[in-house]
Amino acid sequence: MSQKIAYFLDPDVGNFHYGPGHPMKPHRIALTHCLVLHYGIYKKMEIYSPSRASGHDMCRFHADDYIDFLQRVTPQNHQQFTKQLGMFNVGDDCPVFDGLFDFCSMYTGASLEGAIKLNNNHCDIAVNWSGGLHHAKKFEASGFCYVNDIVISILELLKFHPRVLYIDIDIHHGDGVQEAFYLTDRVMTVSFHKYGNFFFPGTGDMYEIGAESGRHYSVNVPLKEGIDDQMYMTIFQGVMKSVMEFYRPTCVVLQCGADSLGSDRLGCFNLSIKGHGDCVKVIRDYNIPMLVLGGGGYTKRNVARCWTYETAVLLDEQISNEIPYNEYLEYFAPDFTLHPDISTKQENLNSKQYLDHIRQTVHENLRNLSNSPSVQMQDVPPDLLSLENTEELDPDIRNHQDTVDKRVEPANEFYEGDKDNDKENDGFLEV
Ligand SMILES: [Zn+2]
Repeated sequence: MSQKIAYFLDPDVGNFHYGPGHPMKPHRIALTHCLVLHYGIYKKMEIYSPSRASGHDMCRFHADDYIDFLQRVTPQNHQQFTKQLGMFNVGDDCPVFDGLFDFCSMYTGASLEGAIKLNNNHCDIAVNWSGGLHHAKKFEASGFCYVNDIVISILELLKFHPRVLYIDIDIHHGDGVQEAFYLTDRVMTVSFHKYGNFFFPGTGDMYEIGAESGRHYSVNVPLKEGIDDQMYMTIFQGVMKSVMEFYRPTCVVLQCGADSLGSDRLGCFNLSIKGHGDCVKVIRDYNIPMLVLGGGGYTKRNVARCWTYETAVLLDEQISNEIPYNEYLEYFAPDFTLHPDISTKQENLNSKQYLDHIRQTVHENLRNLSNSPSVQMQDVPPDLLSLENTEELDPDIRNHQDTVDKRVEPANEFYEGDKDNDKENDGFLEV
């Protein structure tokens, strides 16, 4: 059955520059979009130019003073903000550049609107290649990420969905998202990433499993460098099978960071574009409403190839290996193909035994879910509806949601009693 796909793109999001020599290049989004247009696959989707997220939207997760700073700082006035630059980790990896806040509000607005469309059943899959900035924390920027569009859109999804599954195939650990939902069972985070030898951000070993109500709801698959398609798919499929069985999510958010491809400027894995796309296909085939996001990816031409191919995978469309004529064609020289050989000579340091060990540890952790039934598996009475943005939502559409699973729980913003602590000293969310 073909799924209805909504694709979100602010036409200006590709025009920002982090600065000379910075590996993060928003232009890769423009390149991706150009291929999506010239392959003609845009015709099979609904294309939206989303509205921008406001400071208020961002403060659903982030601290007010941090967002206020992002709104005010510019390359011209940043000397007046010495204290804040240090406090909010803005400067080196996460530089102040022209239009910084506009950039954040565009990619965050696109993810948020994707979540709203999914909540309203206006699409089965929402795609925002400009989103997926998984390292941003409540109080600070990190790893080229300023505003965590993923956390903000998951909070939106939680208004309708009792259990949201977050999957991250970027080469870096999805630390910002894991940290935000570390204490809750309403979001399970699953991250596949390179771990060890001080690889950024340094977190994500397999014993980070969550805490308190969120114990066993953080899943980490720490991999070594050089992993190839076949090994990655084996561990990915194995882990995801257990996760789906034990967690039964009602909605999925998939972060498709393309720095896990071979030949990435910053990465050290050895996945092909097809291998990366196969992960997207595996998740798509579970037929669960899904928000698909970008993320890392620092060899621009391969990022564009990868996300174009994955757009086609989501649409279940075959597209030619020959890249159609387009204004950026020279980027794809000398082969002008969608699937060039991007493998590197790097040795694969993962062994079958090592991967079996991870798979087994994850499986044992997940088995604990069924031994400790928690509120999240129970039905939620419909009179618990308490929605901040009820006016946006068509009640008829809400009634069309056909499964018990999709009933609404109170939004996380509404804290009660003892749990009403807006913890100012950490980045954890109570949901
Ligand atoms: Zn990354």
